[in-house]
Order: sequence, then C-alpha cells, then structure tokens
Amino acid sequence: MKIPQATAKRLPLYYRFLKNLHTSGKQRVSSAELSEAVKVDSATIRRDFSYFGALGKKGYGYNVNYLLTFFRKTLDQDELTKVALIGVGNLGTAFLNYNFLKNNNTKISCAFDVDPAKMGTMIREVPVYHMDELEKVITEEAISVAILTVPAPVAQMITDRLVNANVGGILNFTPARLNVPASIRVHHIDLAVELQSLVYFLKHYPTEDIEE
Ligand code: ATP
Repeated sequence: MKIPQATAKRLPLYYRFLKNLHTSGKQRVSSAELSEAVKVDSATIRRDFSYFGALGKKGYGYNVNYLLTFFRKTLDQDELTKVALIGVGNLGTAFLNYNFLKNNNTKISCAFDVDPAKMGTMIREVPVYHMDELEKVITEEAISVAILTVPAPVAQMITDRLVNANVGGILNFTPARLNVPASIRVHHIDLAVELQSLVYFLKHYPTEDIEE
C-alpha cells in the first residue's frame, strides 16, 4: 500500500510515541492525546491514520497495538537491510568495494574472516571481525542476510552457525550445496558453473536455436 509522503514522514514520530504508550501499558489513545504529544493537529492525525486502515472509534480512540504492528511493518520495509559477508577473499573484497546501496536498500555492514591479517581491518568502512564473533555481532546488529564467499569445504559449517544465529537468507557464492531448514532461504550463485554453462551453450547450441 502506498501512503502519501507527508504521512510517511510523520510515521516515525507516531511510532515513537505509541511505543512509549505501549511500554507504559496503555491500550488505546485518542487523536486529541496524540495531537498534544506529537504536535500535529488532530484532523491530520485522523486522515493519516485512515491510510493505515485504523479508524478511531468515538469515545474509544485508537487501538495502540494495532497501530504499533502496522508501523513496525511499514517502517521495516523502508529500513536498510544490513548484510553480513563471510570470507574476505578476492570475491568477498570485491563485494565490500561494491556499493549495493546504489540499487537498493541493502548494505554490507560487517564482514568475517579467520585470516589474522584481515581481522580488525576496515574495508570501505566495513569492519572485518574474527569468526569467533560471528554470533555476537549478527545478533547485536540484527542481521538477517549473509553472503558466503568462503572456501567450499567450510561453507556448511558456517551455514549452520548462521542458521543458529537466526539469519534467514543466505546468498551462497561457494560451489557447496548447502543443507538448511525449510524456513531458511538460500540463493546459490556459482560463478564458475554459470560461466562454464554459457561457454557450453555457445559451443553446442548456435544462437538461432535459443529457445525463448
Ligand atoms: P575468493 O575465492 O573469494 O576469490 P581467495 O581465493 O582469495 O578468495 P579463498 O581460499 O577462497 O581465498 O578464501 C576466501 C576467504 O575466506 C579468505 O579470506 C579466507 O581467509 C576466508 N576463510 C577461509 N576459511 C574460513 C572460515 N572457516 N571462516 C571464515 N573465513 C574463512
């Protein structure tokens, strides 16, 4: 659902106030109360909230929980998705140097390696941590996506650790086939295989034969 930009800009303001109300145990709030707290006139608040499908009832006000759930969902979509990169080799370093933000709202915010020469360094403002810190950093930074650019033999072991740390998506650049629980999404990009298959098709299937 698209909401007007002016409304979207007020969302974090509403969100912060409602979170406080929720913490203090309040279940409902009137537009007059909100208006007073966030300094937005109550007609605007009512109009804003109607975009969220929240129709205040006379004498009751708005349901705090409903609004909070809505705001959380909506704000999350606009939030930057932070990504972890495991394996700061040639490929991993290239990803760290690539500005993903150009195209969408994802950003590699931390990297991991076992090589003492790489640990503790920064590459384009991204810190490289020791693998021992994997779970801690991923949990603290609430990271849900990881890019794997490690040697194939260690890919499964690292994947298991990522799954345990609650990472929900893995972009696998290693040739290893990864076993994960059904709730985890793995996208596999094997550059060598892709290149080999392109060369094979060029050799064996002349371009006129390409099937759409
Ligand atoms: P690439 O394959 O990305 O071009 P490379 O050829 O430079 O990298 P690889 O041997 O493939 O090096 O290793 C990629 C990176 O993964 C290296 O920086 C290496 O130190 C790191 N690495 C190796 N084992 C582990 C591990 N168990 N955990 C985390 N990182 C690891």
